[in-house]
Amino acid sequence: MDPQTLLDWYSANARDLPWRRPDASPWAILVSEIMLQQTPVARVLPVYQDWLTRWPTPAALAAEPPGEAVRHWGRLGYPRRALNLHAGAGQIVERYGGRVPDTYQELRTLPGIGDYTAAAVAGFAYGRRHPILDTNVRRVLARAVTGVEYPAVATSAAERRLAESLLPVADAPRWSVAVMELGALICTARAPRCDGCPIASSCTWRLAGHPPHQGPARRGQTYAGTDRQCRGRLLDVLRTASGPVPKAALDAVWDDPLQRERALDGLVADGLVEPLDEDVYRLPGVAEAGK
Ligand code: SF4
Repeated sequence: MDPQTLLDWYSANARDLPWRRPDASPWAILVSEIMLQQTPVARVLPVYQDWLTRWPTPAALAAEPPGEAVRHWGRLGYPRRALNLHAGAGQIVERYGGRVPDTYQELRTLPGIGDYTAAAVAGFAYGRRHPILDTNVRRVLARAVTGVEYPAVATSAAERRLAESLLPVADAPRWSVAVMELGALICTARAPRCDGCPIASSCTWRLAGHPPHQGPARRGQTYAGTDRQCRGRLLDVLRTASGPVPKAALDAVWDDPLQRERALDGLVADGLVEPLDEDVYRLPGVAEAGK
């Protein structure tokens, strides 16, 4: 896989996304990377713009109660990410003087930041050279290099070594984002467009005649009727209320009482919802909307 071919393709085809612009701060890149975990770009864009306008620095977010982070997370899903960002902003202020740390090791110590996000922020914000293995990159490398349709469910040490060996010496972060973009736009999960692919002539899976997937069946995610959906409904009530809400308002949005109680207990246990006296609930630390 010739690095320059991919870099040239990226220069001509990359989407103009705000976190990729030269003026995007390390904080903006960190926020975008957390939001983009398991969430499509189109859904992230408006929430990202709102967050960066409201909280342009870690200090600005850390100065607000965690419930405001949850409120402005909107419907991005997996809202513990909002709490992690809020807690991370506090740690960045306390331990790093308000500046997002610039090494993989320091980034890994922040809440909710795993291998991928630490590598991505160190690379995209500070130009450091780390293999950045997101879903798209893993799929492209599986096809183009290993010759299989899909990677294994979990990232293996061999996969990491392969990714590291492919990283160019110069422009490593830009090369990584180019592979990511190829996976998002051309080498998609279900319908790769090999005819328009810049690395088609060297792609192992294509040259082998697109052999079918041999591993376990890939499951699609269901949402309707799940505890996740129920939690989302309950949080919507709290997010759109101007202050604490009575339990009856939560009961009204989900019929199944057992599932509803389980979901509410889970939200409280995760710190996303705070119970007050007499069956009243609120977003954590938020007395009234915007206060
Ligand atoms: S040739 Fe097809 S399968 Fe191979 S990397 Fe390009 S789009 Fe993916």
